[in-house]
Amino acid sequence: MWRFKIRVVYFALLASCLAGLAGTFVSQTAFAKQRSSQPWMNPTLTPEQRADLLLHVMTLDEKITMVHGVDPLPVKEYVGYVPANLRLSIPAIKEADGRAGVGNGATNVTLLPAPIAVVSSWDTALVHRYGQVLGNEEWGKGTNVSLAPTMDIIRIPEWGRSFESYSEDPYLSAQMAVSEVRGIQSEGPIANANMYLTMNEEDKRFERNSVVDLRTLHEIYLPSFEAAVRDGHVGTVMCSYVKTNGVFACENQDLLNDMLKKQLGFEGWVMSDWGATHSTVASAENGLDQEMPGDKYYGASLKAAVENGQIKMTILDGHVRRILATMFRFGLFDKQQTGTWATNVRTPEHDAFSREVAEEGTVLLKNADRILPLADTSSIAVFGVPGGSKPSAEGGGSSGVVAPYVITPLEGIRKRVAGKTGVFYDPGDNLERAADVARHAKVAIVFVSSDETEGKDRPDLELPGNQDALISAVAEANPKTIVVLNTGGAVLMPWLIHVPGLIEAWYPGQEDGNAIAAVLFGDVNPGGKLPLTFPRIATEIPTASPEQWPGTNGNSVYNEKLNVGYRWYDAKDVQPLFPFGYGLSYTTFKLSHLSVTPQRLEVSADKPEKNVRADLDVANTGKRPGAEVVQIYVEQPAKNGEPPRQLRAFAKVTLQPGETRHVELTMNQRSFSIYDPAMHTWRSPDGMYQIWAGTSSRDLPLHSAVTVSGP
Ligand code: BGC
Repeated sequence: MWRFKIRVVYFALLASCLAGLAGTFVSQTAFAKQRSSQPWMNPTLTPEQRADLLLHVMTLDEKITMVHGVDPLPVKEYVGYVPANLRLSIPAIKEADGRAGVGNGATNVTLLPAPIAVVSSWDTALVHRYGQVLGNEEWGKGTNVSLAPTMDIIRIPEWGRSFESYSEDPYLSAQMAVSEVRGIQSEGPIANANMYLTMNEEDKRFERNSVVDLRTLHEIYLPSFEAAVRDGHVGTVMCSYVKTNGVFACENQDLLNDMLKKQLGFEGWVMSDWGATHSTVASAENGLDQEMPGDKYYGASLKAAVENGQIKMTILDGHVRRILATMFRFGLFDKQQTGTWATNVRTPEHDAFSREVAEEGTVLLKNADRILPLADTSSIAVFGVPGGSKPSAEGGGSSGVVAPYVITPLEGIRKRVAGKTGVFYDPGDNLERAADVARHAKVAIVFVSSDETEGKDRPDLELPGNQDALISAVAEANPKTIVVLNTGGAVLMPWLIHVPGLIEAWYPGQEDGNAIAAVLFGDVNPGGKLPLTFPRIATEIPTASPEQWPGTNGNSVYNEKLNVGYRWYDAKDVQPLFPFGYGLSYTTFKLSHLSVTPQRLEVSADKPEKNVRADLDVANTGKRPGAEVVQIYVEQPAKNGEPPRQLRAFAKVTLQPGETRHVELTMNQRSFSIYDPAMHTWRSPDGMYQIWAGTSSRDLPLHSAVTVSGP
């Protein structure tokens, strides 16, 4: 077996080297001649026509080669690899991770802030640019499939991958997924909707089963993938490690063939997460197109299953056809990709963009007595292990990036004050000493962090180590204490009442110190909003029972149903510490004049879907330029059985002091719908739908209504 594997790897590499050589030296002659004589190389044909022509001449072995990766790779480049086929001019598939930059040990790349940070900007244009920078660097490294973005819902606050995902809300996640996928794909690589589906926790991820009803699946967990497919035209989807309702994702007929391919119309290919394939026949028949990273089930055993008739050739052809058609659609047969893993893809623009995202994603959570931006700064004491000097710039796991540099908060602050202010640093490991340092400074800034990584959930929501005690000790010694959180998700804050200033800076990437200094000193006005709820206490969360998380007998029961995130806090009337959508600014805003059109929405199955428009005014009533995120929530009639209010539209508006702008937001018919599991479709029950507008899920001063009526 091993010998066979080594031989496969050898031939794979040989073929790809030859293809490389052919691309460079022989391209004018034999190879070019071969390509021009191959009918599928005709770019005027459709991707499907080209795939069919190619499929027609492929041997069984050549088809099998396309549906699995080569593992282990003798070189450390790329995390997923399918060798080129020289005879047929099929380029190699080269896949690399990267949620916050190119991963898998690549050097000379940009470390961006974590996805949760860019999402906190609530700025779809910024997320699109984030995708572009990532896609540009992936493509520059020779990658043609970028394993990003992660778009699963943050269901439990302890999820170890919340930093690399988007949000607890399906609408917000869907908007971000579309923007990032489009951004990545506009630069060359095929994006990857990572990780389909119900991959909402890390512990025991290889055997866990999510028990979830169909309505919840469609309304909460599917929308980001649906939007990535329908509006983002994502080229690949990664099926996840976990089981959904008893069946592993990568052999799940309901999830793959029915929901993803038939219902959503996904035309790309499904690859397994690394080691998430568990069978040959069930996977092949139920919709898995490609096993990654190796060939345990889709190599010799798939070939044998086809040869002995257990799997029909048409099934294998279907998988190969999807892969080839997608490669044609994205131009992989036609475009020249010159970059290699060794290429330096960093640029000054990417460095600047990393800083811009860190600034835009920062969320100001508390600003009592306007302690921020810093004014009276004759001396500053900076504390923190590891935040103050050693930064917490990124999360761990497959989204880890080799940072080219990281500006620490201490460096950033020192650079910003340029010697005009005394800046003292204390690591915070000795509370008495820290209190003493705090007492002698005008302002104390405490950097605290919690590590998040793929593969394990956080054990609880507390800041690890002595960080709570450090904050309390510093705040007691100096009432002008500001806390900066470098976390990938929500944490508990028993000290909050004693601290006037609080900032969530997430994992801010390589420009950490520069960005936080700019926010602290008011060079930029923070406009970020929370994409998830921060709870007051550990027991007041939607998933507090062990059967929900970490699950019992291998089952995680999604019995909170639709009440995920803020939906649960609203339904149970529980006060969060900081609500979804919340974030302060150094200026103030006022919303007014909400109206909706039409006020009566007639829906019927045979009429095209209709949108509802919300109009309102936003004014900057303060003294600084700043940005506000206008949020629209829909409250469905009680009989619909939906959570109290759900985000259905948002817009970020930047305003000069005194400026008022008129904003138009669009709600589509889905905003007035429920998923009916009995009918397997969405429908809009009759009734009065309340429309709420404001600046967080708990600050919704404006109200209107839409009446929905059937035929
Ligand atoms: C992760 C995926 C990742 C893959 C390849 C898996 O462990 O779950 O998100 O793309 O590894 O590194």
